[in-house]
Amino acid sequence: MVSFDNQSEHSRSSALDGELINAQFHAFSRQVPLLYFILLINTGAVAYTHLRDSPRWLSIYIPGVLCSIGLTRLLVWLGRRRRHRYLTDREIYQRLSLATWVTAAFGVGFTAWGFALYPYGDAYARVQIAFSMAITVIGCIFCLVHLRRAALLLTAIVVIPFTIFFVRTGNSVLVAIALNMLLVTIAILMMMLTHYRDFASLIQSRRALQALSDTNSRLANLDALTGLPNRRSFLERLDELCGEMADGCKTFAVGVIDLDGFKQVNDLHGHPTGDQVLEEVSRRLTRLQSPECTFARLGGDEFGLVVTGDTQIESLQTLGNMISKVLEAPYRCAGASIRVAASLGIAQFPIAATTSQQLFERADHALYHAKEHGRGGTTIFSSEIESAIRRSNVIEQLLRQADLSREMTLHYQPIIDVTNGYVVSFEALARWRNTTLGDVAPSEFIAVAERSDLVHTITLILLGKALDALREAEPHVRVSFNLSARDMNSPDTIFSVMDMIRKSSVSPERLTIEITETAVILDFDRMRSALNQLKQFGVHIALDDFGTGFSSLHCIHRLPLDKVKIDRSFVQEIDSDVAAQDIVRSIMGMCRNLGLTCVTEGVETEAQCKALRELGCNVMQGYLFGRPVPALTSSFRRPLFNAEQTLE
Ligand code: C2E
Ligand code: CA
Ligand code: CA
Repeated sequence: MVSFDNQSEHSRSSALDGELINAQFHAFSRQVPLLYFILLINTGAVAYTHLRDSPRWLSIYIPGVLCSIGLTRLLVWLGRRRRHRYLTDREIYQRLSLATWVTAAFGVGFTAWGFALYPYGDAYARVQIAFSMAITVIGCIFCLVHLRRAALLLTAIVVIPFTIFFVRTGNSVLVAIALNMLLVTIAILMMMLTHYRDFASLIQSRRALQALSDTNSRLANLDALTGLPNRRSFLERLDELCGEMADGCKTFAVGVIDLDGFKQVNDLHGHPTGDQVLEEVSRRLTRLQSPECTFARLGGDEFGLVVTGDTQIESLQTLGNMISKVLEAPYRCAGASIRVAASLGIAQFPIAATTSQQLFERADHALYHAKEHGRGGTTIFSSEIESAIRRSNVIEQLLRQADLSREMTLHYQPIIDVTNGYVVSFEALARWRNTTLGDVAPSEFIAVAERSDLVHTITLILLGKALDALREAEPHVRVSFNLSARDMNSPDTIFSVMDMIRKSSVSPERLTIEITETAVILDFDRMRSALNQLKQFGVHIALDDFGTGFSSLHCIHRLPLDKVKIDRSFVQEIDSDVAAQDIVRSIMGMCRNLGLTCVTEGVETEAQCKALRELGCNVMQGYLFGRPVPALTSSFRRPLFNAEQTLE
């Protein structure tokens, strides 16, 4: 360990051991007043006894000058200490160096003064000089215990001349005092050196302990897989920022990023590949990092974000879009090209909340909102989102209290074969009329019900109604029934669905189960086994909202599908948008190859119908052919739609 005392000139600048020098300096600082106290008291005592017998310059002026210098040094030292200024290692080094040379100079001055006084006193006074010099030097060595070099220098400057001087007097008492003093000083020096070694090793072990605790706290704050700060350090940072910005003059924003479709990566490619994707995600995020924008991994496929720079809504939205874009680029892992999307929720301080916990919760609410409104979007928490959250909480409460078998009904929308205008089947769509809220849209209450097992209750109530309607209808009538992702993940619900159909005596072939593409992405293997069970049981399977998720061909052909329903969003501009036409054409091609029926949803105009027919679509659903109506119509026996019209 390099300290102030054993640095060579060469290593001084390169190997300043800040910590030991610091400790030496502080320990020494505490002794400085005592050091000067000893010096002044002994000088005063000696000067006083020599007042009468010695010249004034020796008994008054020289001790006066020495004491004044000592007193000034003491006051300067105390003044600096009181100012509590932070000192660099180099400044401390310089001060200790100066203190060593001042000690040496005082040593020379006081020793010379003592020897100069010696001839003027009587025997008592001479013994007093020997005694004073001995006691002063021993006292000073004790005070210099943390400044080894100064202590050794003082010993050399005072004790050696002292011993020679008094031994040469030949006076047996003074010789005895000199030798006595020499031996005691050697013993004290040895004691001091041992003490100093213990002091240095104490500082060293304290430093090792500190290094260990620094490593531990760094590890405790980092995510092991990605090396990003972890959830704990992220939350601590939020706490700090909330404290720092409590006056409300500055703002910052908190974001939560969630990967859409990551679970599927784990299921299809295995966890090691999932880990590689997460590592790459963190690398991409790190590249976006700046002092004003930092990231953390909160766990699983969730990442956190803190923005301290520009937190205007537009800037945050741009940042969110950039993050989504960067994370959506393909990941080349394990020989595959993997894609995930990233949704973001952001909350601004102090607009959204002023405590770290509430901010985090609101960013999470915004994320929830972003995910509900499609993949890869950014939502910034606002009062509208807060009311949407409040409304969905009210809906959940009322769903739990309502008499669902009475309030829930089904409407049926025809699905048409446009080549002949006949109805192929009807899609059953849930309707809820609540006494407090009135009509609530299914997109709203199904999403709320899907947060909990409530959706299973609704599914089974509605299935009961669909089966009742099918039993009443003519035997050719078929119905498509929607199951939610959560239903598909519940073996009990799948069992109940099959059990109800079995007990209803309605042939399973009259039913098509629709599941959304995003549901498949959530848990592919589980979904496939549930679909296989249903398929073996005899119902048809349709993949709904196709094109909105990211399912690849690789997934589709491994599912027991009968139909694919192209999402409404592709149909809206189909008569003018070439890109939409290309997508529909390629989906049609895929369906043809896999032997699947392709249904296009949301057809509202003749132009759309015509464009779709030209692309080869024959089965359609939409307001053009019929809106959802409260009962299964028997109109399927005659063409509901004039097929010839659209071909003209
Ligand atoms: P979905 O399964 O894609 O159902 C089709 C939606 O498109 C229905 O909305 C339907 O009324 C609407 N639609 C049909 N033709 C047109 C058209 O030409 N133009 C427009 N703009 N819309 C059209 P709805 O009934 O509001 O249902 C919305 C969503 O709620 C459904 O989308 C489905 O995801 C969910 N849902 C409805 N009923 C149930 C149900 O019984 N169970 C479950 N799990 N989800 C359901
Ligand atoms: Ca559907
Ligand atoms: Ca649909």
